[in-house]
Amino acid sequence: MIRPALTLRRRRILIDVGTQRDLFTADGKACIRNHRRILANIRRVMAWVRKEHIRVISTVRLFEEDGIHHGPAYCLAGTEGACKIRYTHLARSVAYSSDGYTDFPRDLFERYDQVIQELRSEDPFEEPRADRILSEVKATDFLVLGAPVETSVKFMVLGLLMRRRNVIVLSDAVGSLEKHAAEIALRQMQAKGARLVDSKSLVGSSHLRKVGICSCDRCQGRVLKVAADSDCSD
Ligand SMILES: [Zn+2]
Repeated sequence: MIRPALTLRRRRILIDVGTQRDLFTADGKACIRNHRRILANIRRVMAWVRKEHIRVISTVRLFEEDGIHHGPAYCLAGTEGACKIRYTHLARSVAYSSDGYTDFPRDLFERYDQVIQELRSEDPFEEPRADRILSEVKATDFLVLGAPVETSVKFMVLGLLMRRRNVIVLSDAVGSLEKHAAEIALRQMQAKGARLVDSKSLVGSSHLRKVGICSCDRCQGRVLKVAADSDCSD
């Protein structure tokens, strides 16, 4: 049987981790460092993904305030902070709750451009359906963006590497809460075989410089550049 030429091409999948309001906007409960720059890069990557018809696997963290699933005090289920950043949400998508099941249609990525899986823990591989999708999906490269680098992104990347996947971390499109912990996490990922690549070298630069989603002065361009650059705690 002759294989169609399409299957011979490199197939890239975008892994989108925790791109939610609490982590990415200034008024969020745990806004990452340098959120404006990282959001702008994520927005550019998402525009490229739409143009290139790259499929996306997204994980969103939904923690409970109390009960059996203790987690950090952000991205709490049912709050606005848990909502996904608008431009990380594709039109043809399917969302799965954290229900412990493993089912999904065989033609998942023919029917949809994006799968959004809710997680109750930092490690996506603890959620059976996410584990199965990430283990079974066929792709030559897994491009990873999102946050936080030191927890959710790290668990995702190390889990993919353990499954012998080719992982590329988009180093300017991942965000962290703690600089030192993030540096250690990135070194750990590299040591296990992940490649760190600047998103601009992959998607090029574009006119999309505005963040669009965050209403803080910096994202809205109301802060002088000098002032913005001197404060790296955003
Ligand atoms: Zn902002």
